[in-house]
Amino acid sequence: MKLEKFFRYSLAIGITGAVINLILFATNIYYNLVIPIFEKSMDDGPAFTFIDDLTFYTPLIFMALFLAYLIAGQVYLKIHREKKEDEATEKLIDKNAGIQKALDDKAEFLKHKYYTNCPKCGAVREENTSVCSFCGTSLLIEMKKRQ
Ligand SMILES: [Zn+2]
Repeated sequence: MKLEKFFRYSLAIGITGAVINLILFATNIYYNLVIPIFEKSMDDGPAFTFIDDLTFYTPLIFMALFLAYLIAGQVYLKIHREKKEDEATEKLIDKNAGIQKALDDKAEFLKHKYYTNCPKCGAVREENTSVCSFCGTSLLIEMKKRQ
């Protein structure tokens, strides 16, 4: 699934990204690196003030994005994991029910006696069948006494 791949490493990437951006913000590395570019090419004014603020807060914005990615990823993976476990459990229950039914059917089958030949058409009874495979007549003779 696509989202599963997208969130697979969200814990490591989220923490790393958030920490790096926190360091960039706390040390002003990003700001000191980027703002001279605008200082050279722009005059002082409202536009520059906006760029100045934006540059200052950019690492914090990225930190928030990394944290959001981290949290969304953890929530998604937890839900997805639980869903997968539920599906596996359901499959196991279905499988067990199937085995149990086969055993019950076999036990029920073994309680009875059957004609070796069909009383109606004379066909030989096939192994593990209780009805004639040619005409569908029941081959049941009697019930064995329960022990
Ligand atoms: Zn028959």
